[in-house]
Amino acid sequence: MSILVKNLTKLYAQNGKTAQKAVDTISFAIQPGEIVGFLGPNGAGKSTTMKIATAYLPPTAGTVEVNGFDVQTDSIAVRRSLGYLPEHNPLYLDMYVKEFLQFAGSLHGLRGSTLNRRTSEMIELVGLPLEQRKKIGQLSKGYRQRVGLAQALIHNPPVLILDEPTTGLDPNQLTEIRQVIRTIGREKTVLFSTHIMQEVEALCDRVIIINRGRIVADGLLNQLRETSDGSVVVVAEFEQDLGDETVLLNGIPGVRHVEVLDENRYRLTADKGTDLRAAVFRLAADKNLTLVGLKQQESSLEGIFKELTMNNEQ
Ligand code: ADP
Ligand code: MG
Repeated sequence: MSILVKNLTKLYAQNGKTAQKAVDTISFAIQPGEIVGFLGPNGAGKSTTMKIATAYLPPTAGTVEVNGFDVQTDSIAVRRSLGYLPEHNPLYLDMYVKEFLQFAGSLHGLRGSTLNRRTSEMIELVGLPLEQRKKIGQLSKGYRQRVGLAQALIHNPPVLILDEPTTGLDPNQLTEIRQVIRTIGREKTVLFSTHIMQEVEALCDRVIIINRGRIVADGLLNQLRETSDGSVVVVAEFEQDLGDETVLLNGIPGVRHVEVLDENRYRLTADKGTDLRAAVFRLAADKNLTLVGLKQQESSLEGIFKELTMNNEQ
């Protein structure tokens, strides 16, 4: 197992008193090679979980293993096994890109030709060849994120933990950084946090949703879509007004409801698992109706996320 979290709880002490549980008895397991989105609103406990998994903070209760090593009893082995891009990507702005990456590599014990080779490979991988001689302070946010990713990867760890790697990027930078993460994800296990549902959809198959310190969903995106309600909704547009023949749509097996949107557009709602598009297409062919549009509406993951994390503001 790449990351194994068991009954993890974290309480932060404040002014000598213990505050609310930032993380409350959570468990999950991530297999080698998975890219998993760790999703939740601000304050949900994402960064706290990641800081514990990277051996930066001790747990109050429970355990975390990375690559088979326990974060409390084997923290050096844990740090060797993972690359970490912390929230807000702290960097030394006065250092040059290449100099910083060599420094980061040397902290991991890389020396001489190995250090030089790894530094060049990382500059290539994250797309920094033209910036390598610039000071980090001169780089745009998108390029700073690349430097952050490169330092996380310099020692070639099997596991990557990225805390909101795309927050604050403009749309072009966002696409570029996602592409870099996708490339990295081909060879590594990646756990990344975000509060944007589309990000999870763009990058991975599996999502773990956390809210107020508790896990409220863990599964494949398509499973999550199904468990929300599961209804299949299709909008069919015909060349002609169906008039009395609208009842034919009601007759399709599994269809629960037909709504007339305008004279020749109809919204059909059917039970989970119904292959509605094929059925509408066959019906049109049988009855000599000209079908000019057929679109399946996915239940929105954004909606599911809101539903699961709604009580956050309490
Ligand atoms: P997220 O990364 O999902 O936004 P965090 O893990 O940063 O959430 O925070 C979870 C909860 O723990 C929040 O209520 C936050 O205010 C609290 N918290 C985080 N860090 C500390 C800290 N160092 N001391 C006290 N409370 C903290
Ligand atoms: Mg955070």
